[in-house]
Amino acid sequence: MTEQALVPRRDRGEIRHPHETYGTSIDGLPLTVYLPDEKRTDVVILAAIHGDESETTVVVSEALRCLPMGELRAAVILCGNPDGLLRGTRGNARGVDLNRNFPTSNWSADPVFYKSRANDARDIALTTGSAPASEPETRALLALLERLQPRAIVSLHSALACVDDSGASHLGKQLADRCALPFLTEIGYPTPGSMGTWAGEQKLNLVTLELEDASLYTLKDRHVPILLDLMTDRFELEAR
Ligand SMILES: [Zn+2]
Repeated sequence: MTEQALVPRRDRGEIRHPHETYGTSIDGLPLTVYLPDEKRTDVVILAAIHGDESETTVVVSEALRCLPMGELRAAVILCGNPDGLLRGTRGNARGVDLNRNFPTSNWSADPVFYKSRANDARDIALTTGSAPASEPETRALLALLERLQPRAIVSLHSALACVDDSGASHLGKQLADRCALPFLTEIGYPTPGSMGTWAGEQKLNLVTLELEDASLYTLKDRHVPILLDLMTDRFELEAR
């Protein structure tokens, strides 16, 4: 989209698109989704299911605030884990990694170890919840996806600098190309209970966009134009 087609800069201070609450976090915060006027959508964009990846929220918010009213075609969740975001923690208020709390056939109660940067060791433990979908944030997201029936989900994370798409979808390849990031169909370690594993079992296309280890301003410059195209249906979901 050209700069002229976007919201004037003076009006980018708040998000004006319609939104609704799709659930409540453990601490009682609203789980919010921005929706197209027609309330149906092919694409769901999800940021910050990991609360320590707040740059994903800021970058997606910037794109949303640039987009004129009435032009949103995707459902946008700026933060799937608000309690974690406020705490600066990857997990939710109970220390659960929500991205290991999905009801997959291989969900495991074993602790999950994570790393934040590509070259770190994976040595910090979180729990996966007391059961699959034990957490209100997970259940609310599942109910929203059941209602919206999207064809694709783009889940933003940081900072492993890649596009991970086990289904090797057309959308994933285009995103990797546009973002100039490596395209992976295998992240290199098992992820039982992850949203990606869940989506694969549902035959739902989930693309994980791992932002780069870069400043917030660099991330905005690189990714806002791409997210604007994603929000306005300018990506093809399937090859023609
Ligand atoms: Zn993450």
